[in-house]
Amino acid sequence: MCQPAIYPGTFDPVTYGHIDIIKRAHEIFPEVIVAVAHNPHKKPLFSVEDRVKLLKKAVSDFKGVEVCDFDGLVVELARKRKAKVLIRGLRMLSDFEYEFQMALTNRKLAPDIETIFLMPHESYSYLSAKLLKETAVLGADLSSFVPDFVEAALKEKLPR
Ligand code: ADP
Repeated sequence: MCQPAIYPGTFDPVTYGHIDIIKRAHEIFPEVIVAVAHNPHKKPLFSVEDRVKLLKKAVSDFKGVEVCDFDGLVVELARKRKAKVLIRGLRMLSDFEYEFQMALTNRKLAPDIETIFLMPHESYSYLSAKLLKETAVLGADLSSFVPDFVEAALKEKLPR
């Protein structure tokens, strides 16, 4: 039976780094669910509806990739969707501690679900949605970081 893999995150907004990880996950798993966390405590710039909309546009060419939103524990979503694998991206050593803690917490909550880490292409290994937003405020050209429709959404959202 084909089981989906879940790639959870805040995706505020989706970047080429996230898209690179989705592509790599999709090469291994025929079905990938990109799950957008509501995460209100992170005070995202974009609403969850907008984050889902931008992601859907970004992956519209990938058959077998679904985008949804979720609130609560990712392992509960995984159980509901009968997924045994969570995908996370690892950029630098600085990601490791947080990702390691999260993976082990999820393993404690759901020992039957594994987290798999994928590394992006080197050119995206420094790219973060947080830094992207900081750069966008300063009016930088974002074309090597995000698709043009994400850049347009950022420019509309952020005052200059
Ligand atoms: P979080 O889920 O921690 O709120 P994000 O939505 O930004 O953060 O990221 C979701 C996942 O994608 C995380 O595993 C993060 O490490 C990974 N990720 C973010 N940006 C990149 C990138 N440029 N390259 C590879 N992985 C990334």
